[in-house]
Amino acid sequence: MSDKERVIIFDTTLRDGEQSPGAAMSIAEKLQIAAVLEDMSVDVIEAGFPAASDGDFAAVQQIAHEVRSVSVAGLARAARQDIDRAWEALKIAARPRIHTFISTSPLHRKFKLQMDCDQVLEAVADSVRHARNLCGDVEWGAEDGSRTEPDFLCRCVEVAVREGAGTVNIADTVGYTLPGEFAALITMLMNRVPNIDKAVVSVHCHDDLGLAVANSLAALSAGARQVECTINGLGERAGNAALEEIVMALRTRQDSMPYEVGVKTEHLAEASRLVSAVTGFAVPPNKPVVGANAFAHASGIHQHGVLAHAATYEIMTPQSVGHAQSSLVMAKHSGRHGFKAKLKELGADLDDDAIDDAFRRFKRLADNRRQVGDAEIIAIVHEVLDLQQTAA
Ligand code: MN
Repeated sequence: MSDKERVIIFDTTLRDGEQSPGAAMSIAEKLQIAAVLEDMSVDVIEAGFPAASDGDFAAVQQIAHEVRSVSVAGLARAARQDIDRAWEALKIAARPRIHTFISTSPLHRKFKLQMDCDQVLEAVADSVRHARNLCGDVEWGAEDGSRTEPDFLCRCVEVAVREGAGTVNIADTVGYTLPGEFAALITMLMNRVPNIDKAVVSVHCHDDLGLAVANSLAALSAGARQVECTINGLGERAGNAALEEIVMALRTRQDSMPYEVGVKTEHLAEASRLVSAVTGFAVPPNKPVVGANAFAHASGIHQHGVLAHAATYEIMTPQSVGHAQSSLVMAKHSGRHGFKAKLKELGADLDDDAIDDAFRRFKRLADNRRQVGDAEIIAIVHEVLDLQQTAA
């Protein structure tokens, strides 16, 4: 066992991810994703929102049945019927977790809940107590927590912990906060909530301003020890914090974030491909960690560097996230070093004159298109070899 503090990776691809417009998944597809998440050793799989629909209930129940080595969570609003329904779906799990939440911000209290602070506090106490009577592992969440008055957020967290929540989740539901602010908010909770040491502080960040991962990491540096995230950053609107980015940031920057993470990172590429295939949401080529170009090099300077020593332009290895290898993309900025390496990769054995000739032909072709594929390079090699034979 490591003596480092553990960061708990809570995957919500099947719950918040599925709430992405157009990302609905069948039960069979959810089971397939849950199996990959379990193989990858995330710590918690949030399987769905059982009270939302009969289909969601059935999916959570089947995942709770199949997944044995990882906690399975179900979401529930702060209402006894919701919590009972979640428990009904979860109770066969090896490690069930009820995740109950309520909005805490003034905007949500007034316009969504039509409840005052005392009523919200009462609902926090009642929902956590009820969930805790059913299940030993209860997470309580503050929806729109980042836009909540600090004093009131402290009181809500204190009540949730007092009633037995083992995890308290602070959501930046609308992706509004900035990293420095979010770290300060977590520090404030750590300093001011008297019983905070009895619970794990979790964060749930959205990417409306492209800050979900940065905000999550800032929260960890302030003492949060659970991150809620999704494969490919799938999720409502602009999405959630991307699991693969969080995990690889933690793994790559152990020097400044020395936490233990249980995820087997070699499974990240496979998980990304599966979620993309199931939802039909393409992964952009420039997506960190799992994009097609994440380990591809096209410019001559970079190709030369990577061929000499991979660390010149790669901060993680492609194999560590489940990609086969770095790829050299042949395009107009590519140089001789890269071209020679590509010829070797394709098994073409040319003498120096032939390489010179082939490289000139490649450059002419590359000037007129975005990239030159392997088949075209093989064609160039044949041309050059035919000409050599004719000349001989
Ligand atoms: Mn969310």
